[in-house]
Amino acid sequence: MQNFQAILDEIYIDAKNTIEKGSIASYIPELAHVDKTNFGIHLRTLNGSEYGVGNFETLFSIQSISKVLALSKAMSLIGEAVWKRVDVEPSGHPFNQLALLEIENGIPRNPLINSGAIVIADILLSHLKNPKEDFLNYVRDLAGDDSINYNKSVANSEKVTGFKNYAAANLLKSFNNLENTVDDVLDFYFHQCSIEMSCSQLSKAFLFLANKGGCMKNTAHLTESQAKRINAIMLTCGFYDEAGEFAFEVGLPGKSGVGGGIVALLPDHYIISTWSPGLNKKGNSLLGMQALEQFTTKTKLSIF
Ligand code: GLN
Repeated sequence: MQNFQAILDEIYIDAKNTIEKGSIASYIPELAHVDKTNFGIHLRTLNGSEYGVGNFETLFSIQSISKVLALSKAMSLIGEAVWKRVDVEPSGHPFNQLALLEIENGIPRNPLINSGAIVIADILLSHLKNPKEDFLNYVRDLAGDDSINYNKSVANSEKVTGFKNYAAANLLKSFNNLENTVDDVLDFYFHQCSIEMSCSQLSKAFLFLANKGGCMKNTAHLTESQAKRINAIMLTCGFYDEAGEFAFEVGLPGKSGVGGGIVALLPDHYIISTWSPGLNKKGNSLLGMQALEQFTTKTKLSIF
């Protein structure tokens, strides 16, 4: 049995001493206020043991990490029909790239880039009775934690500056790949991105993907095969044009967000969440990636 706490402590100290800490995602003005020195790691094993170091209980904006939860909700609502609206290929481009949309007739490359996530938001809007409330309840249910919430100032802040997302949504609309209005879809999308969680809450919320679809309360939210598919999409698309690098360095399915969070998991074994707001040039947490590389190297627990 490995001493996970000692390994996390060691990784934390090493990362804290790194000089290059990346830069905050200030294109969403509200995120620019976050203290860059925050850094936390949390590990949850499938047998229920938990380990944490640093700011692993502090709330932060999960941003694109929410795309995985939105996708899983859409899959549980409409199943395979999701794939008529969005593809499953890595894009090799930044998260907010628009060019491929035009070439591919309004079918986004995958559900984890912005254009794909906007289509998923449209699906949820069409199929949920009270979309924002129902989606929040879904996330709370997955994590077994009713304190999880939207941050309305972050959602509004992104609404004011989210020009590229408006451009993506308008392009999708022009290709008839949105059923609802651009404003309604983006209002939902900005809210889902604004959800705040801590590393320890994220590890709980993502447990179902390491646990064949069954959440903290053992309720089946996805089939085993759907959970497998989402993990495959995270592995190939979770880090945009750095997905190859993440697989190469870390070797786990995972997802990042511009709030500086990363969640990664080893099916049947564990979920690990990191948070450090400093991002690298591709919009992924610099210290988070470093910590995860260290974790799978030291423990030898990756999918490879
Ligand atoms: N809400 C952000 C956006 O759409 C999410 C991006 C991200 O976390 N990579 O730009």
